[in-house]
Amino acid sequence: MNTNNNIVQNQSSPLGGTKRGASYFKLSELTRSTTAEACGIDNTPSAGAVPLMVELIDKVLDPLRERWGVPIYVTSGYRCPELNARVGGSKTSYHLRGMAADITSRCPFHNAALFTEIRIMHREGKLPLTECYLSQQGLYIHVAYDPAQIKENPFLDR
Ligand SMILES: [Zn+2]
Repeated sequence: MNTNNNIVQNQSSPLGGTKRGASYFKLSELTRSTTAEACGIDNTPSAGAVPLMVELIDKVLDPLRERWGVPIYVTSGYRCPELNARVGGSKTSYHLRGMAADITSRCPFHNAALFTEIRIMHREGKLPLTECYLSQQGLYIHVAYDPAQIKENPFLDR
């Protein structure tokens, strides 16, 4: 497991241009699933999901990770239909299309602070989101990004 969130491939421009190619997250971090491994489910993403996962990283996960300053871990990203059913996901879940990730700092206390940071970045117009909520026990934060469904208020009660 990548525990460092190191820049995977650093091609970012010091002048602040687009940073395509540079990312704190690997696609494999968004497809790995302990449930899939335990149940023998092949969670290889569909061809259509891959560019959407890249968008989620570019628009949401990387900017948030950059601001947060220390590693953020993905507990669930893309889910094939079988995996989504196994974890009790909604049939319309953005996870099915590679547009959502459940993220954690690995500490419920820090997750509350991370959630606050997300709200601040969103208010600043720096974090386009479709859905976002802090899970009930603070174990993870769900974020979803659908370029066609950016919400003025993406925050859901849980
Ligand atoms: Zn989720």
